[in-house]
Amino acid sequence: MRALQWTGPETVAVNDIPVPEIGPNDLLLRVGAAGVCHSDLTLVNFPIRLREDPLTLGHEIAGTIEAVGSDVSGREIGERGLVYLFWTCGVCRECVSGNENVCLAAGRVAMPPCPGLTIEGGMAEYVRIPANTFVPIGDLDFLQAAPVADAALTAYHAIRGARDVLRPGGTAVAIGIGGLGHVAVQILRAVTGVRVIAVDVAKEKLELAADCGADLGILSDESTVAQILELTGGRGAEAVFDFVGVDATAKLAVETVAPNGAYRMVGIGGGAPEITAGPAGGPGWPWGATVRKSLGGTRSDLHACVALAQAGKLHMEVERFDLADGPEAFQRLDKGQIRGRAVLVP
Ligand code: NAD
Ligand code: ZN
Repeated sequence: MRALQWTGPETVAVNDIPVPEIGPNDLLLRVGAAGVCHSDLTLVNFPIRLREDPLTLGHEIAGTIEAVGSDVSGREIGERGLVYLFWTCGVCRECVSGNENVCLAAGRVAMPPCPGLTIEGGMAEYVRIPANTFVPIGDLDFLQAAPVADAALTAYHAIRGARDVLRPGGTAVAIGIGGLGHVAVQILRAVTGVRVIAVDVAKEKLELAADCGADLGILSDESTVAQILELTGGRGAEAVFDFVGVDATAKLAVETVAPNGAYRMVGIGGGAPEITAGPAGGPGWPWGATVRKSLGGTRSDLHACVALAQAGKLHMEVERFDLADGPEAFQRLDKGQIRGRAVLVP
């Protein structure tokens, strides 16, 4: 089969490799579509080769069951679904509490096993998955479904974790209206009554945000903080979701979050927010505000996202690429030229 693989620093290639074999508790999925996430780019651009063998990329996977492992019950060939991001132990106290994204087996700062980032992923004609990571999608279109597996899941989890402060009358800021951000705006509209302000460096991304239901769009420049403070009566926004995570956006978040507000780091651009324990009147951080570095989402979050998509409340803005043109999709994403999500079709 053909597979898009990471072959070393800054290189991806479409290679011919064997169709994966499955174990007794696995499914073989015929891939219908696989989304391209900025995290894929971060991995590909990593300056050191993390392993000898090429790695098949792709953690946003939708497809059809092609084969069922001998010990799997309740699944049938031909079922359509998507793949939960984290292939966790399933039995530790975090997993059984519904916090699979922080499974104990992953340790303190690592990430649970994830297809396409730490094990073979879904930018291929077929992928092996543990049967318990399959989530049915009914007749949802594969191009629409694939980004639900991460772009929607991760945005939903960050928003759900801040739900206490997302009350009508409040304001949420979404920074970075790419694959994750354009879905976040829609989720904020679907599940809360807050005013939504979108921030991006590119005018066309603010147009996308408006199409997704954002109330206001602000270009990211030296006046952004002042504009957000003015729009919120000097208080700041009850929640700031940073889908970029560089120094500039971390600073923006710290300077615009309201007292008791929620700053959520989702983008992993290496930015270092400055939060100090100074007295009243000090710079930046207001009383009572919380910060959380948010990873993916839980299985339950994924079911919620599939339900939102099936109810027609999420529309993925998708640019379709044949798997063979995957390297071009990566280049375009690197240049900030994708509107919404690039999705590969094998
Ligand atoms: P993307 O490339 O599709 O979108 C990024 C957007 O940010 C673009 O619209 C770009 O114009 C905008 N942007 C760039 N610099 C900016 C700045 N300084 N100010 C404002 N906007 C800016 O990326 P994506 O796939 O949506 O991923 C977003 C981030 O989230 C990445 O860092 C990715 O690795 C990370 N991510 C994290 C998790 C998690 O679990 N925490 C999951 C998936 C993705
Ligand atoms: Zn991702």
